[in-house]
Amino acid sequence: MDMYHLKQIPSEAQIRKFLRRVLFGKNVFCPECRSRAVFRYGERYRCSRCRTKFSLTSHTWLHGLRLPLKTLWLVLWCWTSQVPVKQAADLTERSRQAVYDWYGHFRAHLPHNPVILERIIQLDEAFGQGWTLMMGKQQGSRRAAYAFLDDPNPQRHHAVFFAQSHVKPGSRLYTDGSGIYQGINRWWPVKHGTDIHRKWEFGKTSEIEGLFGTMRTFIRRMYHHATSDKMPEYVREFCARFSSPEIFESPHRYLSETLTLVPPR
Ligand SMILES: [Zn+2]
Repeated sequence: MDMYHLKQIPSEAQIRKFLRRVLFGKNVFCPECRSRAVFRYGERYRCSRCRTKFSLTSHTWLHGLRLPLKTLWLVLWCWTSQVPVKQAADLTERSRQAVYDWYGHFRAHLPHNPVILERIIQLDEAFGQGWTLMMGKQQGSRRAAYAFLDDPNPQRHHAVFFAQSHVKPGSRLYTDGSGIYQGINRWWPVKHGTDIHRKWEFGKTSEIEGLFGTMRTFIRRMYHHATSDKMPEYVREFCARFSSPEIFESPHRYLSETLTLVPPR
């Protein structure tokens, strides 16, 4: 691993300052009652109005954190930089399972951005044991949407539901010659065109086929192998990286986008 990057890991104090600014702004307040009458003792705080004890991360999804902040930052840096689990475990001196679990937490807190594709859309499927992945890409853009089906034999209604959920009416939809797309324009207002692969036509769906290839490489590299039950999560992570690369620019950026105070009960 490049030592240049490791030197950029901020100090514990810098990370605390960053978390305080992202979560509380200028002055720390009580995450339960919002009172600013809080006392600090060590790294914790206490509200003098409702007596809640809290820390910078106790009311966020990082609560119960069992890692020093610098280690957390390093694991997060590894994840945002696409360092494979094995290498990240060596680098952070944590077990592979620990790194794997943390990568899962980071993934689970990615923002959910519903994507509607428009103009020209390429749509294709990938298959695994007991599942089908339908993925669409807006041609010439970084916009991608997908549906994960617990069914290795997709039907027309799956294709129609995908279009209704992710394709703007009036768009042009390019697919392979699969029968599930035939007559889709009767169910959703799109103009439909196909590539017939056995006739060596690939032009209209080359971007989505390329994206599937990139996804497979990403998953294999990062997670070594993916069991069927993990596939939906990995696909979600891949699509987020593809569609919103800015979130993965740095740990700062990722935490700014994902860390909020959990609303009081
Ligand atoms: Zn309070």
